[in-house]
Amino acid sequence: MTGNSSPLPTLPSGLYVTATPIGNLKDMTFRAVETLQAADIILCEDSRVSARLCRAYDIKAPLKAYHDHNGDQMRPQVMQWLEDGKVIALISDAGTPLISDPGYKLVRDVQAAGLPVFTVPGASALTAALSIAGVPTDKFLFGGFLPAKQDARRKALESVQDLTATLVFYETGPRLAASLQAIEQIWPGREAVIARELSKLHEEVRSGPALALAEEIDAKGPPKGEIVLILHPVAPQQWTPEQAQSLLQDLLQTNSVKDAAAQAAKQTGLPRKELYQLALDLKSKAEMK
Ligand code: SAM
Repeated sequence: MTGNSSPLPTLPSGLYVTATPIGNLKDMTFRAVETLQAADIILCEDSRVSARLCRAYDIKAPLKAYHDHNGDQMRPQVMQWLEDGKVIALISDAGTPLISDPGYKLVRDVQAAGLPVFTVPGASALTAALSIAGVPTDKFLFGGFLPAKQDARRKALESVQDLTATLVFYETGPRLAASLQAIEQIWPGREAVIARELSKLHEEVRSGPALALAEEIDAKGPPKGEIVLILHPVAPQQWTPEQAQSLLQDLLQTNSVKDAAAQAAKQTGLPRKELYQLALDLKSKAEMK
């Protein structure tokens, strides 16, 4: 695979945050190829990984390491290059930089210095997985990697326990079964999707209750390759009239009728006007006793 033979575009100086494929080398955009070919320097996580991409697309710019361990030392150097008018591209090993990958502090500092930051968008495992998981995507939370240790993982999941939206996590094969078990503990019966090896030869999407998926892994062994774990949204609690009444009674102990109705409306999603009327009735009944 090589780039096209037309002359390279001249790019204005700036930091170009450039997405690269998440597996299939052909998922490189024309603009990403042009940007990397025109860059003076490419910042990457692991030069051995990025060298393969550069060879495939005839990209000659020097690769310099930028990762969590050398970011603090590298940033002043990168700022100097930008002040000197250079075109600097930032890539990660795969996908979109900054999405569970290094780069946020660099983007922040470049912007704070009033220098330009451009996006060259493309593949990300996050959006690729969501696009074929068969789950609602109008509202989702991306939780990055779940912690490896059991306690920390439980706490991370508990921190989003009340969210009804679709949840997305990056995962690894060896930790997947334990994460699914922890999910079952917190949300019994919750449906999950394992999106694996996206855009690669063994791309696979498996769906089912978290517990069933965990049991399957226990029986067959951990899945190989790269994984995105998605949890279906949960239906918000349906409040019965009795439950709403009992909530209002509690709220009326310490709130005015207006505030109790407002809080109950927020909590239950039921119409505030109806709750206000119910709260008024409850209050006058209580006063008649
Ligand atoms: N910045 C990248 C992106 O935009 O997707 C993600 C980097 S993160 C360090 C790497 C994780 O992304 C993997 O451990 C896996 O959870 C997920 N991932 C990356 N490529 C994937 C693929 N082809 N299929 C499934 N998951 C993938």
